Amino acid sequence: MKFLIVDDEALIRKSLVRAFKVQGFDCDEAENGIQALEKIKENNYRAILLDVIMPDKNGYEVLLEMKKKTPVFVISAFTGDDTNIGYIQNDARVIEYISKPFEDIFGIVKTVLEKTA
Ligand SMILES: [Mg+2]
Repeated sequence: MKFLIVDDEALIRKSLVRAFKVQGFDCDEAENGIQALEKIKENNYRAILLDVIMPDKNGYEVLLEMKKKTPVFVISAFTGDDTNIGYIQNDARVIEYISKPFEDIFGIVKTVLEKTA
């Protein structure tokens, strides 16, 4: 099963896709929330790696609007004053928060694989 990588920053998206590919897994990509929601509707992903700050629907809106129970790993540079954090903390589909910048991208892939096995 494929993964969906959602991030408006191409460099982050591509490096995650590459890291999954090295481990033998395929990924679809989306660069904003609208694209993400379309792909989520059309595919059944093993997990979604979801950025928060994005144009054309952000990560919170994707969580609010997606109807599937696909596991989500939220990737973001979290700040203490984020007023939206409460919403994603209460979303049962959110398995884990991954902080940017990434220190160990293969560690992230390993975590995602283990938690969605
Ligand atoms: Mg972003």
